[in-house]
Amino acid sequence: METKVYLGGRPTLAIIDRAAIRSNFLQVKKNIAKEVDILAVVKANAYGHGAVETAKALGQAGCKFFGVAICEEGIKLREAGVKAPVIILGGIYTGQRRDIVKYNLTPVIFDIDTAHQLNNFSSKTGRKIKVHVKIDTGMGRLGLLPEEVEPFFQKLKRLANLEVDGILSHFAEADEENKGFSREQLAIFLKALKVIQKLAFKPHFQHIANSAALLEYNPSHFNLVRPGIMLYGVYPTRRMMKKIKLKPVMRLVTKIIQLKDVPKGFSVSYGRKYITKKEGIIAAIPIGYGDGYPRHLSNKGEVLIRGQRARVAGTICMDITMLDVTHIKGVSVGDEAVIIGKQGNDEIQVDELAEKAGTIPYEILCGITSRVPRVYV
Ligand SMILES: *Cc1c(COP(=O)(O)O)cnc(C)c1O
Repeated sequence: METKVYLGGRPTLAIIDRAAIRSNFLQVKKNIAKEVDILAVVKANAYGHGAVETAKALGQAGCKFFGVAICEEGIKLREAGVKAPVIILGGIYTGQRRDIVKYNLTPVIFDIDTAHQLNNFSSKTGRKIKVHVKIDTGMGRLGLLPEEVEPFFQKLKRLANLEVDGILSHFAEADEENKGFSREQLAIFLKALKVIQKLAFKPHFQHIANSAALLEYNPSHFNLVRPGIMLYGVYPTRRMMKKIKLKPVMRLVTKIIQLKDVPKGFSVSYGRKYITKKEGIIAAIPIGYGDGYPRHLSNKGEVLIRGQRARVAGTICMDITMLDVTHIKGVSVGDEAVIIGKQGNDEIQVDELAEKAGTIPYEILCGITSRVPRVYV
């Protein structure tokens, strides 16, 4: 048995291509009418890509609106100098009224208590607070139920310090080829908008379309769309590859830090779930579930080395993963190992990785932990 080791800094990196972000934004723009604006969803650290850098790249491409899930994410953007409107899609908590005003963030609201609290707070500051109101048209998550819309807006009429700047909803299955349920949701949304207009509200924005609806359901565009995943170069479903040309944004890479020539019958990692069938070579790479490489890929995942695929050997550990690299000619310590992205003529897309891990690309991307440095090129 022989061992070789890698000397140097930890080479595990998420390399983010800013030009690809800008290109994806411009592709989105091509797919919507001129009068429709784009609210780029940069929640969960821009799906793991780094919220501040992503928002800046999008800003350079002409993006004028951003969406985040929570107030804290909005504050982070403001502190980094992002001036564009930022919508807090997931609503706000009682302790955050002050921050909404201080950082000029736009909360989504869906209950009258929050409306009252914001209105009272606003009367003290002397400045109107803009809000977007969310309607649950069938997602069954956040928002007013259709029958609550009229009474809610009647009460809202008395809250003079709030300005209803937008009305929104969210699709439950916009990625399904059959748009039956989305059509029902849209009809409920349109009806709610009528009720709201009848009560003399004139919200500037109406929005309901995520990436999937943006690509496949034009009647849902209104005057603002909310793409997330597609800005990161990932298709909501493979079917949509025909519709738009997106560029992958993230490459997740590391290097081989140790190689071992091992005999037949050699066992690898916790639980000894991999036993070599013949004499071979096992590589160790410094990435594990502590970095967001899913443990579900144990004995299943594939990594690119010298343009070829190497299978994960045994259980993925917190910090290290082993690969069987017996078949890779000239394999050396220090060779680049690509977890996500292109190498040579092959590519491992987030979709592929997610499918093998039994999840969706969204979870893989947001799951890449803060331990992995993001490098912008
Ligand atoms: C996350 C999110 C989006 C973006 O969805 P994608 O499928 O990533 O395009 C849009 N709207 C809301 C309310 C969201 O929470």
